Amino acid sequence: MNPKYASMHPMDDEKRPPTPFILDTTPREIYEGLDRYVIGQTRAKRTMAVAAYNHMKRIMNPGEAARKSNVLMVGPTGSGKTHLARTLARYLSLPIAIVNATEYTEAGYYGKDVEIMVSELLFAAEGDLRATERGIVFIDEIDKIARRSDGARTGASGRDIGGEGVQQGILKLLESNTIFAPINITQHWNKHDFVKIDVSNILFICAGTFSDIKKGRLKNDIGYLGETAEEKTAMRISTGDLEDYGLIKELLGRLPVCCELDSLTDEELARIVTEPPDSLQKEYDELFEFENIKISYTPEGINRVVAIARELNTGARGLKSVFEDLFHDLSFEAPEHTGESIVVDDKYVDAHVIR
Ligand code: ADP
Repeated sequence: MNPKYASMHPMDDEKRPPTPFILDTTPREIYEGLDRYVIGQTRAKRTMAVAAYNHMKRIMNPGEAARKSNVLMVGPTGSGKTHLARTLARYLSLPIAIVNATEYTEAGYYGKDVEIMVSELLFAAEGDLRATERGIVFIDEIDKIARRSDGARTGASGRDIGGEGVQQGILKLLESNTIFAPINITQHWNKHDFVKIDVSNILFICAGTFSDIKKGRLKNDIGYLGETAEEKTAMRISTGDLEDYGLIKELLGRLPVCCELDSLTDEELARIVTEPPDSLQKEYDELFEFENIKISYTPEGINRVVAIARELNTGARGLKSVFEDLFHDLSFEAPEHTGESIVVDDKYVDAHVIR
């Protein structure tokens, strides 16, 4: 058995008494919980707060046919899609599995079956079956399994040729009530290594950058189509656009909530460095606390960090790599700088960050 799953006995869980579950939150409270950690993305946070609230309502009234609100998240790299989902899960104390669509294959082919996404959730829930059945599966890079018809027409390629089969697999998972999820995710399990899981209340979030998507198909039919680049960016993505991109209609039908994230502005990137409770600034303050090294930042220093991160074109992810460079030397030499104060201004940034 895969050691990752060795200590897990999901069957034992059925013997445990159910944990009482009270809906003691509101969309506004969920939004505020997200707002502390996720900078910007106001509309996306509101959308996710509502989706999560409805998810909690469903869990509480399993008999009622409340509409299941699985989510499609669209936004550039490093804009906070994964971060938003993780923060949501933490705020609501739900287990979350982050999986990558490109690692899965159509049933019967070499690669992971989609049921393993639920196995990952069971693992994230430390084997707690009840928690698994109300948890979140975040499927990243859904755009990379788009059908290739468009690419074939235009000559552009790069999308997975087996993409449509995986989409069908995910669709089946989203339509299922119960599935048999393998507990042992290595290639050679036997039939006793499966556990029956009710997936009808799992919240599925599919996410992708859809970087070269053409917006405005349906809007074109009803009238005004954006003219300038700004207008085109401001336009919301429609189901028709996503279909043109190569997502199958049935799958889109199972993802009724569309949550769009914007690319982060310089001002937002600067806030990400300093504001959230788990900000990079706080992380490095803590790292050097042991040596009693005090680090302060000038506005010019922060602006320079943001400008360099911007060049990397990976949104907030770029900030992390800039910070690694920034404190590479200091991390090595920290014991020799005990008790010192360090000012990170633009010169300090230029002297330490490799460009
Ligand atoms: P995506 O999934 O959109 O590619 P991530 O959520 O993985 O981006 O972002 C990478 C990291 O950058 C996150 O772990 C988080 O620390 C930070 N980050 C990204 N977006 C935000 C944001 N809007 N607010 C705060 N931190 C963010």
